[in-house]
Amino acid sequence: MAHYLLSSKSKTLSLKHIFRLSEDEAFKLLKANRWGNPDNVCDVCCPHCGIRHNAYFLTSRKRWCCKHCQRYFYITTNTAFAFHKLPFVDILAAILLFANEVKGISAITMSRHLNISYKTAFVLCHKLREALFKTRDLTPMQGEIHEDGAWINFTLRKTNYHKNRSKQRDSKTKFPKFRPTKRCIISLNQHASNDETLWGSNRTIVAMDYSESANTVLALNHQFVKQGSDIMCDENPAYNGLDFHYNKWAVNHQEAFSAKGINNNLAESFNARFRDLHRGVHHKCDNKYALHYANQAAFMSDNRQKSNGDLFSDILKRCLWVLPLREWVGYWQGNHRTQELIGMTAFSSEEISQSYFKNLNERMKYEQELLAA
Ligand SMILES: [Zn+2]
Repeated sequence: MAHYLLSSKSKTLSLKHIFRLSEDEAFKLLKANRWGNPDNVCDVCCPHCGIRHNAYFLTSRKRWCCKHCQRYFYITTNTAFAFHKLPFVDILAAILLFANEVKGISAITMSRHLNISYKTAFVLCHKLREALFKTRDLTPMQGEIHEDGAWINFTLRKTNYHKNRSKQRDSKTKFPKFRPTKRCIISLNQHASNDETLWGSNRTIVAMDYSESANTVLALNHQFVKQGSDIMCDENPAYNGLDFHYNKWAVNHQEAFSAKGINNNLAESFNARFRDLHRGVHHKCDNKYALHYANQAAFMSDNRQKSNGDLFSDILKRCLWVLPLREWVGYWQGNHRTQELIGMTAFSSEEISQSYFKNLNERMKYEQELLAA
C-alpha cells in the first residue's frame, strides 16, 4: 500500500484555494468555523455574555453588537487572533502552511511565503502552537503505553583538551557536567489498538523536565494513564516506580532495542519526529517554548492520517476556541512568558484553555488587563 501522504485523500485543500478567496470570503469562512451557519452572518454567539442570537451586524465595519449586553465584537474577539493586523487571507494561508509542514515550518520560511516580517511570522507561528497546546487532549490513556525521554538544547561541548578534561567532568559521577540549557522531553505514546487505519501510536502526551525524573514520570502516569495499563520503557531507573500500579515492561537498550517483542519503539519514533522538527527545522528553541514545539510534533504525529483540509479546519477551530494568548499579544513590546513549563506545571489550569475561566467576571477582568497592556 502506498504511503498515506502520496494518496489523493491526504490532499483536500490547496494554497491556491486560500489565495483566491477575497477578504469577504475569508471572513465568511472564519465565521462558519467559529459559529457555524455560514448562510446567516447575524447568527452568532456573543463572546462577552455567551448568548447565541441574531446580533446586529454592521457590514461596513464587520462588527456585531450584542442585543443583550450591548457590547461590540468582531470575528476575532476573544480568539488567538484578537488584535490582529494581518489580512484574514494571510492568516488562513499561514494555518495551511503550518498544517502542510509535517516536520514544522520555520518563521523565516513563513515570512518569505507570506511576505511579512520575521517578527510577525514568529509570533503567528507561536500563536498556532500555543492554541494547539492549550487545547490538548488530556483524557487518560490506556492499553499499551510507550514512554521515553529525549534530550534537547544541549550545546556542543568545547574543544576537549586532555588537560581540561577533569574540569569538564563532574567530580563525583565522572560524567560530563550538566549544561544549563539541557532539558528532557518526556513522551507518553498510546498504541493504536483496534484501529485498522492507523499503525503505531494514536495519542501522545508530552512533558518537560530537567532530566528524566522519577517523580515527574510517576506523576504523569498517575494523571494520564489508567491503572493496570502496560508500560513499555527502557532500562532507565526513573520508570522503576511504575511497577506497583502498572505492568512495566523494560527493554535494556544496551543489549537490544527490541527483545522478545518488548520495545518502546513508539516513543523512539516520536523522539525521531520531534528531533527532525527541533533540530532539523528550528535548530534550537527557548526552553520556555520547548514544550510547545514538542506538542506540535505530537499533534502532527497523532493526526498523520488526516487530510490537510481536515488539519486546517482543526487548527483554525482551536485558534478560534482559545482566548487571546497572554504571551503573544504584544510579544515584541515585552509580553513574554516568565517561566518554563517544568514537570507538571504544564498541566496546571492556566495552561488548559477549557478550565481557564470559571466565571464571566474573571474573563472580563482578563480582557481589561489585555487592553491595558
Ligand atoms: Zn452579549
